[in-house]
Amino acid sequence: MRALRLAPRAVLAVYAHPDDADVAAGGALAAWARAGARVDLVVVCDGAKGSHSPLQEAGALAERRRAELTAAAERLGVAEVTCLNRPDGEVTNDVGLRRALVGLVRERRPDVVVGPDPTATFFGGVYVNHRDHRETGWALLDAVAPAAAMPLYFPEMGEAHRVGTVLLSGTHEPDVVVDVSGTIEEKVAAVRTHASQLGGDAEAMGEAVRERAAAAGRPVGAAFGEAFRCLELAL
Ligand SMILES: [Zn+2]
Repeated sequence: MRALRLAPRAVLAVYAHPDDADVAAGGALAAWARAGARVDLVVVCDGAKGSHSPLQEAGALAERRRAELTAAAERLGVAEVTCLNRPDGEVTNDVGLRRALVGLVRERRPDVVVGPDPTATFFGGVYVNHRDHRETGWALLDAVAPAAAMPLYFPEMGEAHRVGTVLLSGTHEPDVVVDVSGTIEEKVAAVRTHASQLGGDAEAMGEAVRERAAAAGRPVGAAFGEAFRCLELAL
């Protein structure tokens, strides 16, 4: 495990659901934005099924989550949020999603891309990683390496662009930690903005976020950290 000190110019974060980026990488995104990077966020799903209550109306939930997403992104300093509005639970690493992601990579031209590690399926014998997370991760990897970098893939989607660094969150094989000690409060605030997902206990969620970040930071001596699997793509 090593501390990762990046000074990116442009960052593109791609996640499945409206609250995923804050939980996974909110501290790092806020730190890079504060340091002057342009940070853009892509959310693949509409968030309309993110409730355990059968009484929840899907359209109203999607609308509420969109508002939460906008507020959370503001807390992190995200420049622009792009919603692809795929129905929750129906993300597939298909050619349409890859084309959309290639288009965004070529338009924003990030040096760092952040997203979910699609190889992580089971967590602690109690949790199955959501299909939308896995499919989003695979689509992002396929879009970045190699499609976006090769001009004959989706030539209608802009000029080819090579991404240097890919950081994967929610991974079983983390090898870098980003120190988020300076932005842990932004991360906590962003996570707590998603009130529809907290079951009413925002205080406990804030504590859980701090505890998890403290554990992630420990191997590199950071008060708070976020761990990733890091790929430095060969050019
Ligand atoms: Zn999610």
